Amino acid sequence: MTQSGEQDNRDIFIVENQQCPVCAQEKATFSEYEIEDAYAGPIAIFTIRCLACNFRNSDLEFIEPGKPAEYTLDIESKEDLSIRVIKSGNCEIKIPSFRISVDSSMGSEGFITNVEGILQRFEQQIKVLKEDDDLDKVQRKKLKNILKGLEEVYAGEKKITLKMRDDSGNSAIISDKVKIKKITSKK
Ligand SMILES: [Zn+2]
Repeated sequence: MTQSGEQDNRDIFIVENQQCPVCAQEKATFSEYEIEDAYAGPIAIFTIRCLACNFRNSDLEFIEPGKPAEYTLDIESKEDLSIRVIKSGNCEIKIPSFRISVDSSMGSEGFITNVEGILQRFEQQIKVLKEDDDLDKVQRKKLKNILKGLEEVYAGEKKITLKMRDDSGNSAIISDKVKIKKITSKK
């Protein structure tokens, strides 16, 4: 049990039987709740879950709106893997040395994780992509090399740069090492 009690008083809003954006049946549950992040402050978390087709997604938003920004983080050691990452559904992620960026499915999802969590999501997507029968030898080799590269990053043997860009200002990398560049929203 928590002593402060503050967390317990926060409301969770749940609306059931809403139309699912994927299967269009009225079987989706929307929920919204707030968390207090020790570094980024209060954050609203939105989730959607469909009982009919199992679609689920989540997003988040800072209660006190942030500024549109671009974050650049050099991942240089195993320790850097535990750096906290807050990613909204509007955030684009890139790892230039692997020439990869998020696809639309991961791109529209918001979540709180760490650097390792971001890399693992990339890894999952690349593994799925690798199974595609339409790939030629060269493409498959390229994906294999990325997976090998990720293993080296996990082991602290390879340095890479992680870039995040969020026009909505709802993302952050919590580290003294991160370089933050303010950007003007595309809109
Ligand atoms: Zn559905």
